[in-house]
Amino acid sequence: MGSAALREAVKVIRDWSMTPPGGATKASHAIEAYGSLAFNDGVQRARLPKEVYRALRQTIERGQSLDAAAADTVATAMKDWAVEHGATHYTHWFQPMSGITAERHDSFLTPTADGKAIAEFNGRELIRGEPDASSFPNGGMRSTFEARGYTAWDPTSPPWLLKASYGCTLVIPSAFVSWTGEALDKKTPLLRSIEALSTQALRVLRLLGSAATRVQATCGPEQEYFLIERTFYLMRPDLINAGRTLFGARPPKGQEMEDQYFGSIPERVLACMMEVEDELYKCGVPVRARHNEVAPSQYEVAPLFEHANVAIDHQMMTMEVLKRVAPKFGLACLLHEKPFAGVNGSGKHLNWSLADEFGNNLLNPGDTPEENIQFLLFCAAMLRAVDRFQGLLRASIAGAGNDHRLGANEAPPAIISVFLGDQLTEIFDQIEAGNATAARRGGVLDTGATVLPKLARDAGDRNRTSPFAFTGNKFEFRAVSSSQNAALPAICLNLAMSEALDHMATALEAAVAAGEPLERAVRALLAATVRDHKRIIFNGNGYSDEWREEAARRGLLNLRDTVEALPQLVSADVLSTFERYRVMNGREVRARYDVAIEAYNKTINVEAQLMVLMAHRYILPASLTYQTQVATNVNAVKAAGASATAGERILRTLCDLNDAFEAATADLARAVAHTNGSPENHARYARDEILPRMVRLRDLGDRIECVLPSESWPLPTYREMLFIK
Ligand code: ADP
Ligand code: MG
Repeated sequence: MGSAALREAVKVIRDWSMTPPGGATKASHAIEAYGSLAFNDGVQRARLPKEVYRALRQTIERGQSLDAAAADTVATAMKDWAVEHGATHYTHWFQPMSGITAERHDSFLTPTADGKAIAEFNGRELIRGEPDASSFPNGGMRSTFEARGYTAWDPTSPPWLLKASYGCTLVIPSAFVSWTGEALDKKTPLLRSIEALSTQALRVLRLLGSAATRVQATCGPEQEYFLIERTFYLMRPDLINAGRTLFGARPPKGQEMEDQYFGSIPERVLACMMEVEDELYKCGVPVRARHNEVAPSQYEVAPLFEHANVAIDHQMMTMEVLKRVAPKFGLACLLHEKPFAGVNGSGKHLNWSLADEFGNNLLNPGDTPEENIQFLLFCAAMLRAVDRFQGLLRASIAGAGNDHRLGANEAPPAIISVFLGDQLTEIFDQIEAGNATAARRGGVLDTGATVLPKLARDAGDRNRTSPFAFTGNKFEFRAVSSSQNAALPAICLNLAMSEALDHMATALEAAVAAGEPLERAVRALLAATVRDHKRIIFNGNGYSDEWREEAARRGLLNLRDTVEALPQLVSADVLSTFERYRVMNGREVRARYDVAIEAYNKTINVEAQLMVLMAHRYILPASLTYQTQVATNVNAVKAAGASATAGERILRTLCDLNDAFEAATADLARAVAHTNGSPENHARYARDEILPRMVRLRDLGDRIECVLPSESWPLPTYREMLFIK
């Protein structure tokens, strides 16, 4: 990048560090501010008549539907509360199949006969909205002539106020369904999957004598992201339009010094994080942890876990707030899975468990897991779920962005397996052999430094290479990608677990009905489950070649990319399982499959076109100009009667590179101009023909970058983007 542009960017950073926007740094009043912009339980209790409040709680906690009169009362209370906080508009906020969120704002304002206006909002408007649905991706479910789609208020997720500098809007989390009631979004199937999971989990709990009447999936999604200087971002067409760099030579220092993870957070970044947290706290999003990640300029934010539906809404809000707040601090937030080649990409670890209404975590092993029948049953069910639906789980995280990450020795491998740790693996081994005795214990950790308090030791070490790891009292689905809506992976986990728990409940109910003692039936079932599904357990190094070979011997799927993974979504087994638990019908699943393939094709198409554009408008002109300069220099030196060896050598290199680069650009442009039949065929074509050409063009472009002087190179470099902060 030229020195003038660089000076400009550096000035922004320097000015900022001397005077943060708004003058003084503000103290965070998290405790007081928390939830102040959310229409949460406390506000509902204070503002609703007792019986309406109770009815609403029944809906939230038990999934019972709310009658029209109660909805009217809730709408009025919600509107009054919002207007008192300065809101003028409301919006049904929903999650269409494309993965981002959508909103259309409507005003509360209603003109009156005397030429004035009042704020109005009734139950009908609260419950149902009707955006023009024809422009949302629908995977062929709805042709434009039957374009009706409705947004439907989700009473189980608290509304909040979106405060912008010019005004305030009431945001109402909503589902999005077609005229026929089919799901056009991610929330509707998620809610259905939560119901299915509750039903099946309760059957198991009932056998064990539990009084629980409701089970919830709980989620805590950790988000990784990059923050870079916004001036650099705005100078990179690839970052703006593709979310990742399509060119860029590796810097001399990448992440090899391993000095970034948990390192101290730069002042400006920390201020930005605090502002993000402040906004999220106010809306009742319980973000808790923040730290540096492995790559330079990479960070993470993690919330406290919540019920899955609310957790997913809050996760979407977190991504939106990160994007919106970063520019206020002169930063750009990158949520892409792989914004920079050569350094770690970003994921979203989806921590998942189940809890009954008393708050018991059903995956809590307690002190003596080998005697904890409830834990063993749920944990074994998880083994069955992941083994039986490994293909579906792999498909749920597939996408063009994640293809740059999975299986690349920095992220989980594309092979789905479960890390249990030594203690649990030992217990399950013993169960299979028919003799669960005492298991190894964690005990106390001796640090050798007497001034330090004694630490309790976990019974197993961590494993960073597993796509699906048991981490003490929950499972962590690590292969989820940073930019995706985590709803689909959560839906698939809920579904897979519903099937497994159904299987276990059915077996146990039959055994008990036949007069077998429960304890014995459970032991037999656990032993059979371990025998049938233990191949999914893997505690070793997921990055190794041996694991790939071993996984193949075990018959585990190794679906290397999106094109290989997506068909798993519509396998006969998966389709019938979705139908059986009423999570999605065949049309609904197929629609998601269509949308995903289309997204893959469009992503690669846009990226390839951007590369051609950048080649023509940035890289070639710069390189040709420099070529001329060198040629002029060679001529001048020769005319002076001196030896021009250095200039001649550079000129030769430039001529070769420019020729090859121009030819590769033309080749890619030709490949992109072509479409190849059905979406499936085109996806294969994109993977096999377009992507390799992009890789080749990038390689040549990066070599040109390394030859050109800084003044001539038109784009911010990796070193500038990742290290100037
Ligand atoms: P680590 O990733 O180091 O294990 P934590 O123990 O702090 O970190 O947990 C990470 C995430 O897991 C947090 O977002 C947390 O809320 C979430 N989590 C913890 N318990 C559960 C649970 N029972 N269900 C779902 N998520 C959980
Ligand atoms: Mg984690």
